[in-house]
Amino acid sequence: RAKQDGRGVFSFFEPSLDRAARARRQLELDLRGALRTGQFRLEFQPIFDLKAERIGGLEALLRWDHPTRGLITPGEFIPVAEETGLIVAMGEWVLHEACRQALAWPEDVRIAVNVSPLQFRNSGFTNVVFQALTRSGLAPQRLEIEITESVFLDGADAVVALLHRLRALGVRIALDDFGTGYSSLSYLRSFPFDKLKIDRSFVANVASDESAGAIVDAIVHLAGALNMDTTAEGVEDPQQLESLRLHGCGSIQGFLFSQPIRGAAVASLLEQRASQAA
Ligand code: C2E
Ligand code: MG
Ligand code: MG
Ligand code: MG
Repeated sequence: RAKQDGRGVFSFFEPSLDRAARARRQLELDLRGALRTGQFRLEFQPIFDLKAERIGGLEALLRWDHPTRGLITPGEFIPVAEETGLIVAMGEWVLHEACRQALAWPEDVRIAVNVSPLQFRNSGFTNVVFQALTRSGLAPQRLEIEITESVFLDGADAVVALLHRLRALGVRIALDDFGTGYSSLSYLRSFPFDKLKIDRSFVANVASDESAGAIVDAIVHLAGALNMDTTAEGVEDPQQLESLRLHGCGSIQGFLFSQPIRGAAVASLLEQRASQAA
């Protein structure tokens, strides 16, 4: 219902723009309270090592149980958390909680934690990682920090220096969603990542599309030459798995093997693993 106030078509959109702005503002307000009132929890998705044929680690994925809206996924609230700076406090909670829970798992199982660019660039970040390790007592080599290529957008030198400081703590560093960012491969020369996570968009068509297959093959070879592991993200069907095996991919993660699961379910999943191996 356009208002006839002489300002043309723009007024037609005003009510809905207003609604969107208010919903966004409400989400921001809710997000501020969520950390304080314990509405966040972590789920964990196993990463299956194809050579060792076992779960080598799990990735922590943040979940928000909103009191009235129900479950809200990170795709919706992480961008708001980034814009408002709330991501710094949320990310600190994630690191502490992930390390705390991982301490109960077998020592050869790692925990991977996503870190957003703003959180990563925050001056206290190295100290937050250090605190999470010391307070939980988790061995540093069991923690893997996942960053995306976007952290390199403004000033690679400072980022590389920071990565080296983190590495000095003993933690591992993985490059998430590899191949989708503003990849200049030059940063692979300036920092030895521990792992490349091959983005789901390549994995989706790895068995069906020649160019996707060629890209996965190239990433696996590049990683091998630079002494990095590879994990294929978003593996959903056996054809993809078979193709990834043939390409020599190191590990897989996706609905085919397991959805993200609750913390309480991790122990029994890892026990199953132990009894199968025995
Ligand atoms: P990501 O780090 O690339 O995580 C993988 C995402 O793919 C997860 O979505 C996971 O549930 C989903 N996934 C796993 N297997 C499959 C599959 O087989 N098929 C499909 N279609 N999807 C699959 P989720 O949990 O919604 O997280 C989305 C993104 O939000 C993550 O992408 C990560 O960038 C971000 N995120 C999640 N937790 C955190 C966190 O604690 N901190 C920060 N900064 N970001 C987080
Ligand atoms: Mg990730
Ligand atoms: Mg990813
Ligand atoms: Mg992703």
